[in-house]
Amino acid sequence: MKISCARCGKPRELRNGHVNRAKKHGLNLYCGRKCAGLARRKNKTRQQKVLEKRTYDIEYRKKNQSELKKKKAHYHKKTYDPEVARKKRKKRAKAHAEYCRRPEYKKWKEEYDRKRRAKQYGPYADAYLIMVDLNKEIKSRSNKYEIHIQNKTFGKAQKRDLEAQGPKRSYYYTPSNS
Ligand SMILES: [Zn+2]
Repeated sequence: MKISCARCGKPRELRNGHVNRAKKHGLNLYCGRKCAGLARRKNKTRQQKVLEKRTYDIEYRKKNQSELKKKKAHYHKKTYDPEVARKKRKKRAKAHAEYCRRPEYKKWKEEYDRKRRAKQYGPYADAYLIMVDLNKEIKSRSNKYEIHIQNKTFGKAQKRDLEAQGPKRSYYYTPSNS
């Protein structure tokens, strides 16, 4: 039986049985393997494929979290050698220190540490962060002397020293009583 390719339209001779089977299952018939393969393509862009794989992976990780954790722990136990790890760390130490000195890393780390510290207060994390910011703001507006007074870390001797230095210091203290 003669058919025409579902992709390029080229004619091809096929056995009746094959054609009937395709018809029964609602399948397309092609002139050859090449057309069959090309017709199967979904013509997605690379970007689209990457995005789809990403969402799939996120779902997969969420679904199999405990299983993956077990697998990773097992692999770690099987392959980890503390001596080798120590040597590797030592070799990378200089480069790692340089990596940590980058301003963008510092900025990221600052934010990361802030969140990590707040986490230990559980539901009061937000309150903690507000307190930290408030404290910072107060400190930025007060001078060294005021901070010392607040923290009760200003002793008699220091007071005397300041008075002896005269009014040139910005945080010079003028005793109001005594
Ligand atoms: Zn074809």
